[in-house]
Amino acid sequence: MRLPNLVCMLCNQYSDTPVCSFCKFDTRFLLQLNYRGNLLRYPAISQQFRHTGYSCLRACGEYVWPFDTLIHNTKFKRCLISPSILANWFVEMCLDDDSLLPDCLLPVPIQLRRFIRRQFNQSTEIARQIGRAIDRPINTDWASRTGGKTQSGLSRAERLLNLRQAFTVQVPEDVHHVAIIDDVMTTGTTADVLARQLRAQNPDIIVEVWAMAITLRKPLTQTRL
Ligand SMILES: [Zn+2]
Repeated sequence: MRLPNLVCMLCNQYSDTPVCSFCKFDTRFLLQLNYRGNLLRYPAISQQFRHTGYSCLRACGEYVWPFDTLIHNTKFKRCLISPSILANWFVEMCLDDDSLLPDCLLPVPIQLRRFIRRQFNQSTEIARQIGRAIDRPINTDWASRTGGKTQSGLSRAERLLNLRQAFTVQVPEDVHHVAIIDDVMTTGTTADVLARQLRAQNPDIIVEVWAMAITLRKPLTQTRL
């Protein structure tokens, strides 16, 4: 993608692309550490994320620079270039030509009061851009975040129960394979709760989770090919 901007949004140096080639070069993609395709195949990653409801996890990189900057810009500054960069990187780095693509993309919903305040759901913007790139529809009505208390001060079990009660999910019609789109995944619990609710309604549905970045508790070492 080329836009007539003259500075890189990450380093403010001259660039005719939104992110300059130097910043892209400095970005550490999981693919470069040989973590490719379904990340659940790697114990170093699968052990860190709850995954009882989905069978495939794809992500671009660790939640550090520049992913934290781009996600922050998407979330709080309503920057429309940032989700487009994240989406392009995701398609380039996480999907192979022979990847079996889902029927539709399902962005993780945010709480209604947050949506009213921000008028923006970062996951929806990212999903929109990915959908455009791979020619797949997005569905924004599949889940709503209705209630749930704030998570702070709750035990692990209480948090899980709280999350399960927080979402109302509806499997879209005529879909057999979906990808839940999240900006950053920290424990995997939210995506897993959503995936389990989809599978509770349709046990045959294939659910993937596509996150732009993941938070890692332990640093990854390069895998051998
Ligand atoms: Zn730059």
